[in-house]
Amino acid sequence: MNVRVKFLGGAKSVSGSRYLLEVDEHKILIDCGLFQGLKELRLRNWDDFPVAVSEIETVLLTHAHIDHIGYLPKLVKEGFHGNIYCTQPTEDLVKILLLDSAKLQEEEALFARKKGYSKHAEPKPLYDTRDAEAVFPLLRPVPYNHPLDINSRIKVRFHNAGHILGASSIEVILNGNSQEKRILFSGDIGRMEDPILYAPTLFEQADIIFVESTYGDRDNPQGDHKKELSETINRSLQRGGCLLIPAFAVGRTQLMLYFMKELIEEKLIPDVSVFIDSPMAFSVTGLYKKYIEFHKLKEHHLGSNDNAVFDYKNIQYRQSQEQSIQINDVKSNAIIISSSGMCTGGRILHHLYNRLQRSTDTILFVGYQAEGTRGRRILEGEPSVRIFGLDVPVKCSVEKLEGYSAHADREELLRWLSAFRSSPKQVFVVHGEKQSATKFAETIKEKFNWNVEVPDYLETRELFRGI
Ligand SMILES: [Zn+2]
Repeated sequence: MNVRVKFLGGAKSVSGSRYLLEVDEHKILIDCGLFQGLKELRLRNWDDFPVAVSEIETVLLTHAHIDHIGYLPKLVKEGFHGNIYCTQPTEDLVKILLLDSAKLQEEEALFARKKGYSKHAEPKPLYDTRDAEAVFPLLRPVPYNHPLDINSRIKVRFHNAGHILGASSIEVILNGNSQEKRILFSGDIGRMEDPILYAPTLFEQADIIFVESTYGDRDNPQGDHKKELSETINRSLQRGGCLLIPAFAVGRTQLMLYFMKELIEEKLIPDVSVFIDSPMAFSVTGLYKKYIEFHKLKEHHLGSNDNAVFDYKNIQYRQSQEQSIQINDVKSNAIIISSSGMCTGGRILHHLYNRLQRSTDTILFVGYQAEGTRGRRILEGEPSVRIFGLDVPVKCSVEKLEGYSAHADREELLRWLSAFRSSPKQVFVVHGEKQSATKFAETIKEKFNWNVEVPDYLETRELFRGI
């Protein structure tokens, strides 16, 4: 048995996660993400797929974030028709997120055509709603910790990764002629202590490890995160305006709601309205009820009673476009949570368009902002950002909180790696920007003295020969 891997994305970048595992003539794709952020990355979404799509037999998904699943409709459009394995919550989330992604692509193309700001005469979406729906019949849900036979010589197992609902690390077990080998794809690793999600699974043995490195070069500051959040909210509201929080509809929004309920109850922040302006966040919140065994919350946390953590009296879910636009009339004493979390599209754009220009308003970042995104530009203090083809001046206050990321920080990633009892043959540091991935690889070398490498986009590596 000969085994190779080809890095089709998520190599020296945080988006476009796609790793092609070639086991003799079998080709398995782990994750199928969309490139986001920098233009040079986004343009890769439009390139021909780097390998013949029809030769890929199976896709395995670690979790439902767009940088891990967002290319699936294109893959299916190009001829992929195999099974796509993932956990049950991931299956549901994939459907919600791909429909949203398709809608965003359609809207963007339509808007570019109307305003004529695209360089293309006839801007087209990368894929549309029909393409997204074509993915659904191929999805095959599998439980955690259940060995699944891809064929007689390849088995896979999904393990909780603690990053978002249903997120997994994926173990691939190869039954070679003479030896058994284990390859582990970490997926995105969550926090060791989270009020909603269980801690990521730790592993004791793997021959090859692919480890993410989003925060591979930094530790989240220690401290009282709840106190920091209450201080930030109070400071923002005292400016006389509203607080706008761009947040991923999956995970970050729910975590913010969870903490805000505590802060309101403990009277650490005022009893203000909290608008959730994302129909997707509404659907996602429902999945916590459906998949009760996948997280720490109990039934009574998930209704709309006094114990509810996602639907208490302060919260107003805004579903329709009209309801969303009405929020623009709210001038003070409100918190608005909307997506996308990195300000790349969705309803957050019209809020930014209105609120960035108001000196009394505040924008608060609570999640990772990738290179090249509007979120990163605002965070880095650019005086204006482009929205709907116009330059919008940033006059509002800009705040950032580090403690609420869905990703393990450097110290937590090292804790995850420390669980291995024997040295792996090879570690690949993936899913991190170049600096973060490189620094983390140096740290691994220093601390464990393992063979470690930071692969490049489209590189191929031999993993095993003649096993
Ligand atoms: Zn993720």
